[in-house]
Amino acid sequence: MTAPTLPVPATVAGSLPKPSWLAEPNKLWPRWRPEADVLAEAKLDATRLWVHAQEAAGLTTIGDGEQSRQHFVHGFLERVSGIDFEHKVEMGIRADRYKAMVPQVVAPLALTGRVHEAEARCLRAATTRPTKFTLPGPMTIVDTVADRHYGDRVAMAMAFAELLNQEAHALVADGVDVVQFDEPAFNVYMADAADWGVKALERAAAGLHEAGAARGRAVKTAVHICYGYGIEANVKWKATLGGQWRQYEQVFPALSASSIDQVSLECIHSHVPPELMGLLEGKDVMVGVIDVASDTIESADEVAATLAAALRWVPERRLIACTNCGLAPMRREVAESKLRALGAGAALVVGAGA
Ligand SMILES: [Zn+2]
Repeated sequence: MTAPTLPVPATVAGSLPKPSWLAEPNKLWPRWRPEADVLAEAKLDATRLWVHAQEAAGLTTIGDGEQSRQHFVHGFLERVSGIDFEHKVEMGIRADRYKAMVPQVVAPLALTGRVHEAEARCLRAATTRPTKFTLPGPMTIVDTVADRHYGDRVAMAMAFAELLNQEAHALVADGVDVVQFDEPAFNVYMADAADWGVKALERAAAGLHEAGAARGRAVKTAVHICYGYGIEANVKWKATLGGQWRQYEQVFPALSASSIDQVSLECIHSHVPPELMGLLEGKDVMVGVIDVASDTIESADEVAATLAAALRWVPERRLIACTNCGLAPMRREVAESKLRALGAGAALVVGAGA
């Protein structure tokens, strides 16, 4: 056995707060503040700012903090034709947990061009560390738009998966090392997730390993499955889920059997039974050690203790420290402190470092 020499790797689930000069703070759907002529430049400046903060916190895999998109789903949809954004309709999403004004799919879907090229290249140029980029998962997209064309959720999910796959391949060409799909809907429609959600996810991620290998890089694919941002509707929903949150139990076996490399899950302050991590055999497990529903900053010791507990179910070489979900709706200074706690806590736990 080789002696462990490196700390556990650490990364964020995805989003980080936008500076108040870029967008309205503390909102999930913020309005952009700069005028159109400087907005693109401002987005990339905010991206660099968060790259620096993640590096300074000691994180190993660096993201763009989703600074260039207003919302994690609609940032992608804005570059898809076949969607009517002019006539949004109110729809109950995530099994009616909350209402949202959503655009309508009215024709066959196609990409109108690159979606995230500018921020992916900015991210790649801003750090020498491995990079991660997030895209919405097909099932979650399907749950966030109204269908007036396909008439079938699975068919529409596969159509979105094709488009996600195109953009994912382009992201690999931009230099991205980990392509992560966000699928909070997996925790809402568990039977559908196991039945076709994971298949749609695999379609979205198809060929990325090979595309990385062709460039001499070990590209990884990932999925993030959470109980949502720390907003009031989600906090109330979580209170109805009982003492044990067993949603992952239905989905993890299908993911374990899939081609996806990494799974990001909620852990700290959740009611997820930790033994469910044992269902992810063969996968890298991004364990949520930072609570996104509380402004209280975790101590490094608390982060380390959560990771140490996860080691009962996850082999050292497969353990990655992560946040429970995105930090977008939080205050900027709270998010910065939480990043530092994440990096410091991961450094206290010496993993295999492979
Ligand atoms: Zn999340």
